[in-house]
Amino acid sequence: SPEAVAAPRRAASGKKKIAVMTSGGDAPGMNPAVRAVVRAGIYAGFDVFAIYEGYEGLVGGGAQIKQMAWADVRGWLSLGGTLIGTARCAAFRERAGRLQACYNLIVQGIDALVVCGGDGSLTGADTFRSDWPSLTAELVSLGRLTPEQIAPYPELTVVGLVGSIDNDMATTDTTIGAYSSLERICEMVDYIDATANSHSRAFVVEVMGRHCGWLALMAGLATGADYIFIPERPPKKDEWAAELRAVAHRHREKGKRRTTVIVAEGAIDDELNPITSDDVQAVLSGMGLDSRITTLGHVQRGGSAVAYDRALATLQGCEAVYAIAEMEPGTPSPMIGVQGNKIVRTPLVEAVRVTQSVAKAIEARDFDAAMALRDAEFSDTYKMFISTSMCDDGRDILPESARLNIGIIHVGAPSSGLNPATRAAALYCLSKGHSLFAIENGFTGLISEGRLRKLEWLDVENWHNLGGSEIGTNRSLPSENFGQVAYCLQKFALDGLIIVGGFEAFVALHELETARPNYPVFRIPLVCLPATLSNNVPGTEYSLGSDTCLNVLTGYCDAIKQSASASRRRIFVVEVQGGNSGYLAAFTSLITGALATYAPEEKVTLRKIQEDIALLHESFSKDVGDNRGGKLLIRNEKASKIYSTELIADIIKESGKGRFESRTAIPGHVQQGRAPSSLDRTYAARLAIKSCMFIEYLVREGRSSRGEPTVPYDEYFVKSVERHMLPGGKTAVVIGVEAAEIKFRDISDLWTHEANVELRKGRTIHWQHM
Ligand code: ATP
Repeated sequence: SPEAVAAPRRAASGKKKIAVMTSGGDAPGMNPAVRAVVRAGIYAGFDVFAIYEGYEGLVGGGAQIKQMAWADVRGWLSLGGTLIGTARCAAFRERAGRLQACYNLIVQGIDALVVCGGDGSLTGADTFRSDWPSLTAELVSLGRLTPEQIAPYPELTVVGLVGSIDNDMATTDTTIGAYSSLERICEMVDYIDATANSHSRAFVVEVMGRHCGWLALMAGLATGADYIFIPERPPKKDEWAAELRAVAHRHREKGKRRTTVIVAEGAIDDELNPITSDDVQAVLSGMGLDSRITTLGHVQRGGSAVAYDRALATLQGCEAVYAIAEMEPGTPSPMIGVQGNKIVRTPLVEAVRVTQSVAKAIEARDFDAAMALRDAEFSDTYKMFISTSMCDDGRDILPESARLNIGIIHVGAPSSGLNPATRAAALYCLSKGHSLFAIENGFTGLISEGRLRKLEWLDVENWHNLGGSEIGTNRSLPSENFGQVAYCLQKFALDGLIIVGGFEAFVALHELETARPNYPVFRIPLVCLPATLSNNVPGTEYSLGSDTCLNVLTGYCDAIKQSASASRRRIFVVEVQGGNSGYLAAFTSLITGALATYAPEEKVTLRKIQEDIALLHESFSKDVGDNRGGKLLIRNEKASKIYSTELIADIIKESGKGRFESRTAIPGHVQQGRAPSSLDRTYAARLAIKSCMFIEYLVREGRSSRGEPTVPYDEYFVKSVERHMLPGGKTAVVIGVEAAEIKFRDISDLWTHEANVELRKGRTIHWQHM
């Protein structure tokens, strides 16, 4: 046939060819993922193609399969949706469609396919992969291709990237786009809250998620919602209306002026009857509340990806290319996922199988199995939502003897996340009958005024979306006056203390621990909860507030880059905070597509600056027509004593020889501000509640000065604390996120082995891979 004349081109070029496509519903982060595959692919020596319009383009072939150059994806990090298009393609569900797709790939000589999409798209990719040998055989038997033509393609290498706002794929903690979508939801609910508070209204907010309640659950936790409906935990058919009424009524009685209910679009009751937003509104209206429905709809897919998704998409896009480069014949097709904060490869077949089993478990009304099949934190987070929203009815109150007094203090520079953490700790404590005492204005406040304030339900109710610190923070340390600190802790009979903050909080914990021989009152359980945008606390790879700061910097750099791009020949040297830690600088560079990074971890020399200037000359020489991008260099505030931000900008200007010029841009304290991001809000709640549980656990174990209360704790409680404890666990710890898990790390161990006290950071650079 004439078609058979079109011989595969692979043999001619000798280079391996890879293709990338996006499929299913669009998700923020798809463009950064395509950009990463294209650039990492070119860097690895492949010819890279984009398949436009999802599987439609794969089946249609021709001009819809286009080779991509480095510059073709310039600026894609900051753009929402997917620029190579996506579609829902009925033809690809049929064998005939896949046969044509197989033909198109072989004719183009493409060896490997990277598919970025949701569970449907990856199921399709997996079917295509398993059909491949029979498809090629059929093409030969039909005379469309010769045995020689199919010989180089005995199998199809498929790599899955999970791009979906629903976060419904098993074996990965998050999907590309999920946190961007959550961010949008939180932003919208914050707006709705303002009007709800003004009119004392109830709002039913419907969010996406047909089979997966991740968005609804996380949004519930992050927005301080009163009630949520998720498919994995359906309420009892005849009971949910009464329960909702009781919760809303109780919260109103306590003085709350708004009622917020988040409903996943796939919400059902335990008999699988749909629960619609209208049903929920009817219940709220029935109790006399002025209630409205807001269906967020496609707003949730829109806009630029948040910092987290840009990084995830970039790191995963690169990993997809490495996976292709390393694949041997017979290697199972991988899906690139993230577990904890590690990029991982899992077999695509397995991921698809487990994902489908969640929907099957829901259909079979086996809701415990459905919850268990979600990632490990899902059930935990659900319990945390319940304890901070509905358990104010006293259901979890402990007997008098087991009720504790816990202190919380903010130490160091402000960062977003301090208030949501304090709110969650307070609500959790109240649900158990404990008292959470806020120490106002840091250790100075404690030493000079001895002020501790018991936080009540209404005090903290709206702290979930407030940046800064409502209880006050500063850099003072307990060593200013140990005696006075001990006196106050004793006076309020504290059973445990949570110190929230950055490196000073870490130092404060160390000081209290080392002063224990002289001040026995410090022998209570002590937890440092890292919260700093520098993310420099030893013992954790994540600190509260760092994500919000990265989002602020993302917005700032996008705007600056646009200005640089418009002027055609301008470069901005952006100075970011971070003290002696280059985390913010490196991460910002990664997610904004900066040309160079100056961080304290790598000596800044004149040679490096010269190399970067040479790179700028090269980059400007390639800028033609519309294909001109703004250019950024990111410099950490302490990268060099000599090469200041101004000096680097001046050297660049001088070397630009009229071809380009440079400016400085210093966002300054803006980096500490703004409402906390959705990721910081949810982590704040999780880490703060775990910190409280740690204190409860140690008291129960009789490992604090208080002695052992005789209270039975349920198995869930014990398990959910013990899984984060290290052998020989100590009573003064940093609660951190390391690799895949939350861990309680002993302060003296961290201080001796992992802290670089002089430079105020850890000795290990956990972000080096970026
Ligand atoms: P989202 O999470 O946004 O819904 P998705 O990838 O799950 O994204 P789907 O509409 O389910 O979106 O799937 C996208 C496309 O993938 C379909 O239009 C179809 O072309 C292909 N596809 C899905 N399931 C299969 C399947 N079982 N066999 C072959 N192709 C499939």
